Amino acid sequence: MNISHIEHLGIAVKSLDEAIPYYENILGMKCYAVEEVADQKVKTAFFKVGQTKIELLEPTCEESTIAKFIEKRGEGIHHMAFAVADGVANALAEVEAKGVRLIDKAPRKGAEGLNIAFLHPKSTAGVLTELCEKPE
Ligand code: ZN
Repeated sequence: MNISHIEHLGIAVKSLDEAIPYYENILGMKCYAVEEVADQKVKTAFFKVGQTKIELLEPTCEESTIAKFIEKRGEGIHHMAFAVADGVANALAEVEAKGVRLIDKAPRKGAEGLNIAFLHPKSTAGVLTELCEKPE
């Protein structure tokens, strides 16, 4: 697998309205997009730090995996996303052959139109790991 950089860090928050001012007023970043990802039951807010993004994730309902995460572990870093240069499908096949447990067997659409797939934290030393690529 050829990882080019950390594409984004996903951070679970209870409220975008409460979290965004910290990133903007204290850290001096600018929120450049807010997007609802309906099938993941989250509302996202994006910031850029170099070529890496911060993705704030607010649950839109109680069944959201983000709502469950916050309930269990509180707000905080939820996942780390790597940009893979040679394609998410190839990377999935490669790690599956090495015995890694997959959450997504095939790439799907994530926020910002990226192709994404998650690896199971049981196989990734405890960090929920996302692989992503810009579609062709
Ligand atoms: Zn993500």
